[in-house]
Amino acid sequence: MSTATDTSAPTPGDTAPDHGLREGAFGNATALACRECGHQVALGPYYACPECFGPLEVHYAFPAVTREEIAAGPRNIWRYKALLPVPDDIEQSPNTEPGFTRLLRADNLAAQLGLTRLWVKDDSTNPTNSFKDRVVACALSAAIELKAQVFACPSTGNLANAVAAAGARAGIKTVVFIPADLEKPKQVNSAVYTDRLVAVNGNYDDVNRLASEIAGEEEGWAFVNVNVRPFYAEGSKTLGYEIAEQLGWRLPDQVVIPVASGSQLTKVDKAFKELVQLGLVEDKPYKIFGAQATGCSPVSAAYKQGHDVVRPVKPDTIAKSLAIGNPADGPYVLDICRASGGAVEDVSDDEVREGILLLARTEGIFTETAGGTTTAVLKKLVETGQLDTSLETVIINTGMGLKTLDAISDRVGPAATIDPSYAAFTGSGVL
Ligand SMILES: *Cc1c(COP(=O)(O)O)cnc(C)c1O
Ligand SMILES: [Zn+2]
Repeated sequence: MSTATDTSAPTPGDTAPDHGLREGAFGNATALACRECGHQVALGPYYACPECFGPLEVHYAFPAVTREEIAAGPRNIWRYKALLPVPDDIEQSPNTEPGFTRLLRADNLAAQLGLTRLWVKDDSTNPTNSFKDRVVACALSAAIELKAQVFACPSTGNLANAVAAAGARAGIKTVVFIPADLEKPKQVNSAVYTDRLVAVNGNYDDVNRLASEIAGEEEGWAFVNVNVRPFYAEGSKTLGYEIAEQLGWRLPDQVVIPVASGSQLTKVDKAFKELVQLGLVEDKPYKIFGAQATGCSPVSAAYKQGHDVVRPVKPDTIAKSLAIGNPADGPYVLDICRASGGAVEDVSDDEVREGILLLARTEGIFTETAGGTTTAVLKKLVETGQLDTSLETVIINTGMGLKTLDAISDRVGPAATIDPSYAAFTGSGVL
């Protein structure tokens, strides 16, 4: 089948199967709606509007939801299941139960940067050590609901880890595609869970194109970030819900979020807006900031040039988890950051390394290059006066430093190598 048919979606009520996947029930979700023209299609394996090719997004008819109901739920993302496109009995479904990660007060880093109040939302403690476990849990639910036989993704690394683990636990055939030059730890962190790790000679954008082609040719595949992307993307909303709940049901003033495809940033914003609509938090202004590495900063470049269009780039950065040169949600990130009074900023690879060390040495959190990017962008936003230091700020640490050891392994190490004697230690100059 051609790529053109592949992006088509039927109108509501048309139950024709698409590539062997069936439509299903998704809790309080009512339809997929085009973000550009509003055209609605049924909940199914569709991701592009049949009218204008705009991206499709899940719409809901939310019931009344109380803080108490949420607080009585499990200590994972399913406490928010009423706000997600998942069946009512989702807790019974096999999954890695991600989420409800810690929100840490970061007083040391705040003091160092001159901020009044700072928090780190630490998603490195998810089951496969990145925020991707959240989105994958929602995509897996959709894959099961749509009766997919194969669970798959193109990935910059962390997504492959999360898909491989979730697929193993669910007992579904799992195939993950990565750029061949990916960090070794991220390759191993997928290969332990699946025999079907495929390394592709090319960058992420090449891998993504290949995935779209396979999704069009094969039957019964659920590509988490391609044909079930609308369901997958909703998982990132739980980051926003958790930040608000963990702050005592209120919104922060400023949030700094790393941007690869840009999906996460747009969904944190969507989550905040939904919480206001549902009366779960008080309405108040908040600013959203996007963080990119200069070596792959198409959204930051567009922001700085005042453009609405994001021009694709060829990535060249150590922040491989953010190395998407043609970000699907780039224009929406621009809209959200501009409209909220935030910004999009980028930092060099050296600043990314400094960011990793800064977070580690002030807060005891070992982040990967994406978190180094976010921390370094926070610092730059303060230094350039783009961020208001008197306001309460949250940064999101999306991944774990053990997966990107190479980024800093020649920057840190033993202060001395000594013989096992007291004299050798006192003479070492370590103290
Ligand atoms: C995928 C990823 C991101 C960015 O996610 P998008 O939703 O594509 O912008 C950020 N940090 C880490 C560690 C990731 O793996
Ligand atoms: Zn449309």
